[in-house]
Amino acid sequence: MPYVVTQSCCADASCVVACPVNCIHPAPGEPGFGSTEMVYVDPAACVGCGACATACPVGAMVPDAALTTKQLPFLELNAAYYDAFPHADRTPVALVPPQRRLARPGPFRVAVVGAGPAGLYTADELLKHPEIAGVDVYDRLRTPYGLVRHGVAPDHASTKLVTRLFEAIERQPRFRYFLDVEVGAPGAVTLADLKAHYDAVVYAVGASADRGLGIPGEDLDGSLPATALVGWYNGHPDQQDLTVPLGAMSNPSGRAVVVGNGNVALDVARVLARPVDALERTDLAPGPLEQLRASTVREVVVLGRRGPAQAAFTVPELIGLAALDDVDVVVDADPALLTGDDQRSTLLREIAERPVDPASGRRRIVLSFAVSPVEILGEDGRVTGVRVVRNRLVGGADGDVRAVRAEATDETHVLDAGLVVRSVGHRGRPVAGLPFDERTATVPHNRGRVEPGVYVVGWIKRGPVGFIGTNKTDAQETVDTLLDDLDAGLPAPSGTDADIAALVARRHPDAADLAAWQRLDAAERERGAQAGRPRAKITDVAEQRAVATPAEPRRRRSLLRRTLSATA
Ligand code: NAP
Repeated sequence: MPYVVTQSCCADASCVVACPVNCIHPAPGEPGFGSTEMVYVDPAACVGCGACATACPVGAMVPDAALTTKQLPFLELNAAYYDAFPHADRTPVALVPPQRRLARPGPFRVAVVGAGPAGLYTADELLKHPEIAGVDVYDRLRTPYGLVRHGVAPDHASTKLVTRLFEAIERQPRFRYFLDVEVGAPGAVTLADLKAHYDAVVYAVGASADRGLGIPGEDLDGSLPATALVGWYNGHPDQQDLTVPLGAMSNPSGRAVVVGNGNVALDVARVLARPVDALERTDLAPGPLEQLRASTVREVVVLGRRGPAQAAFTVPELIGLAALDDVDVVVDADPALLTGDDQRSTLLREIAERPVDPASGRRRIVLSFAVSPVEILGEDGRVTGVRVVRNRLVGGADGDVRAVRAEATDETHVLDAGLVVRSVGHRGRPVAGLPFDERTATVPHNRGRVEPGVYVVGWIKRGPVGFIGTNKTDAQETVDTLLDDLDAGLPAPSGTDADIAALVARRHPDAADLAAWQRLDAAERERGAQAGRPRAKITDVAEQRAVATPAEPRRRRSLLRRTLSATA
């Protein structure tokens, strides 16, 4: 009974290391690892032991006999990888790589700025070394887990299972949180403070800005970056006042347009198009859920500037979208572009051939190809539509997808829409005190080193690409470099562990620790359970602080006194 890797694969390779027969590829160090859309189980070699399923942080490993009908395409997808890349050599990979020991005994302390996946994988890698006496993880928000909380789509519950791994990381004795602390903000703890109190500082601050389209009308009301919309429905405190035209008055066309066709664009399209009963069982933020309940949007059009074979969404995500039975998925592409025999084109051709029942009443997602927005149209400052130009595809004759370019023709049309979401990728923001490459919007580094003692990891290091698990390998590289520098000798910090805790307490009286986060987490789960949901996110920072504050010790004492005197 071979196991099959399914849609929620995070590609962090935990399964690869756990597999006793080396049947999961590409493995770390093999070509394609780090850029592949997922890892694949070789059905001919798998012994069905289930070690991979135990190791997988996101529940992506499923025995073939237990696949749902919707997961069946993954059977073929896994096997197809081995048709293309046979792995004749079944020598097991180094299951437990020898533990590196530092030449210098420490104890060393490290600050990690950013509590998203990159920051937490980094903390985990560091804490494998006994010479690291402590890792303090800072985050400007009161809630950790970065894009797993505020980016992963609410209807991707299995992807969110990776938080169990993060919970295990944060519970380690030498781990400490300083949440609700924005390093480098006015009046806040600075990089200089961190350098004075830690042996090393690692920035894992992601890429929280968005890229613009550079076309007229982008500033109209109703034209939004996906970063804001995704933050809104995922309960990011900064986005809860976002105005999203979903109703008949603000969006009379009943249409939303998403520009770009990466995985984020598909997430946005699903959330806007799926019926609310599919969303109310998720952790979608309570306020946005009510607005989505009242939504009159009937159609979401996803604009891809290039062809089906060049679409930025991954095949596993497309399989997941095609399997939805609560929305219709329609492909709008010149049939001449759908003739490819690559996996994307094949699947899109199958979707294009499906009959759509116009009387079903289902909302629809239209995947359009070879089209670009040239102007966002509006009236009275609000979006009313998008002027779209048809593109011809040029270049890429040698089969290199990246080399195919879109060139505008003079054929244009207008799509009426009250909401336009640009989902054309994230962009890193400059970090106070660090160099910044404006072109890539990343911090220049050498294997994670910005300068001895200061490091980067995650999207601020490599740009906004990859899956949650990609950060594990990335963190291993940065930590390796950091350990090299510790071994070579870095200046010892002047301040102690207690000094930095006191400084944070002085400058950030509201700072939260692990216990505070656990109280907030428990409150959200409890509220969610009452409504039959995994959690009801608390999105107001003042309320987050109030919920996470422990009960007054004095009140508890007097309650205890009253109880004792009552029973005396
Ligand atoms: P992305 O994958 O880089 O996709 C960006 C899209 O924007 C592409 O379709 C790109 O087209 C298009 N684009 C860029 N500039 C444009 C312009 N001026 N006009 C029109 N289209 C333009 O970015 P993303 O969707 O934000 O995702 C970021 C990363 O997170 C990706 O690695 C993604 O796989 C990952 N992610 C994964 C999941 C998951 O695994 N479930 C979910 C969400 C995100 P071209 O291809 O033509 O440049």
